[in-house]
Amino acid sequence: MSGNRGPLDEDGITDTEVLTDTRVADAGPVTSTARKSAPKLLTLQQASATARSLARNWLQRIDSTMKNVELLGWESPELSTFVSKKPAKPDDAYSAWTNSPVLIFINYELAPRRPDHMDVWLIAVLRHEAFHIEWFKGDPTETPPRPKGHPQTFLLGLEHEKNTYQRTARWLEGGDATKLFETHVQKPIPVAARNEIKRIAAQQRAGCRGLEAALKQVMTLPSAAREDAAFAMFGFSSALSQDLKTAMKQLYNEP
Ligand SMILES: [Zn+2]
Repeated sequence: MSGNRGPLDEDGITDTEVLTDTRVADAGPVTSTARKSAPKLLTLQQASATARSLARNWLQRIDSTMKNVELLGWESPELSTFVSKKPAKPDDAYSAWTNSPVLIFINYELAPRRPDHMDVWLIAVLRHEAFHIEWFKGDPTETPPRPKGHPQTFLLGLEHEKNTYQRTARWLEGGDATKLFETHVQKPIPVAARNEIKRIAAQQRAGCRGLEAALKQVMTLPSAAREDAAFAMFGFSSALSQDLKTAMKQLYNEP
């Protein structure tokens, strides 16, 4: 269960600011030289096509055990079962979604229009989703051993999402993203890409904090009301059954 954008907060991996803000230089005033050296923005169509063409390779590089994971675009009809494709506010859109150990949906239309941000966006989005998938595989070494499968309740799903934001932030800050970039794109990593890693890591931290606050709030409710509240916070599609047990099954495509 995942989106890179929490329904509760301002987090998420989007690149909307490139549309509103020149951000020509990562530091210092905008000079005419800086303006000239600003990367030419891709059209939305070019950006999403580029992201689509690069995603498969990045997933493999991030985690070679993800060979059998299928990548589908946001236009796939299967997605509407789980999450509304048109969020109330455009910037509430998810960058990606997975609720299956073998499938990730990617919202390629949110791919950055700055070519020098493209690889970092894919690395971050796919790392986050691959962490979910890894979790779905279970962990017999945990105490008590964690069985294979999804979080069993929406409340546990909320907790899992919070942890995934935190894990992704740590991973991004830990240097692995830079290493991947330098191995497969360019060494040394350009400043723009390095800053983009930092920016997305900060967003993931914010996502984690947002969910932490939400969880805290949920826990103040009587225990019988928590599951409904967690469900509401995820902002799932209204196509999902209002019966929470059925909704859990629907969400994970279980019979
Ligand atoms: Zn997630």
